[in-house]
Amino acid sequence: MEHPGITRSLIAFDEIIPPRGGTAFTVRAGQVCRVVDLEGKQVADFICFHLRDFVDKLSPENTQLLNGTLFLTTGHHLYSTKATRLMTITADTCGVHDLISGSCSEYTNAFRYGVRGTPNCRSNFERALRPYGIPLAEIPYSFNIFMNTPISTGGATGIQEPKSKPGDYLDLRANIDLLIAISNCPQERNPCNGWNPTTLEVVVYEVEPTGKGAPRQ
Ligand SMILES: [Zn+2]
Repeated sequence: MEHPGITRSLIAFDEIIPPRGGTAFTVRAGQVCRVVDLEGKQVADFICFHLRDFVDKLSPENTQLLNGTLFLTTGHHLYSTKATRLMTITADTCGVHDLISGSCSEYTNAFRYGVRGTPNCRSNFERALRPYGIPLAEIPYSFNIFMNTPISTGGATGIQEPKSKPGDYLDLRANIDLLIAISNCPQERNPCNGWNPTTLEVVVYEVEPTGKGAPRQ
């Protein structure tokens, strides 16, 4: 498919993540990772690690603290355990994402729904990160792209259907070389993915050089 604002020749790679699937890949500083909700109402659990120091990884807590908000959108940053500015959100066509709900797991599915052996995001991350030697215990909780968890003034939370429509996307620019992992959330027992897990696409692309003499940001 066409990707708004991306010149085809600048795409480094492009991957379809099937329903309930997961992936991991590396990106270089300056590259942008676009996560596309192809059919709408599908959550992407997203994590990343400093490529040369896996201890320095996404921290949802520091991301909230250092942005001063729970509701991330264009201009906000993903911060690490060591307060490294890992990524910056450079485009957001949806505007509703989640930083507080972690990732679904074997254990939470057993607790909430009495089911065992179901596909889940923590297991997806474990499988995708095995080739990089990262065990489950070292995998952080996620920034959940397109997940809709409103917070009431009294502090009550609850999962609702995503606001994302087909083709909505979030762009995240890597500020350093990174290892990224994405779980296409398999949850089908609550409204997280509109009761129907569907396909995601990830596109990693270069930003066109601004040319000689352009002001430095
Ligand atoms: Zn999930």
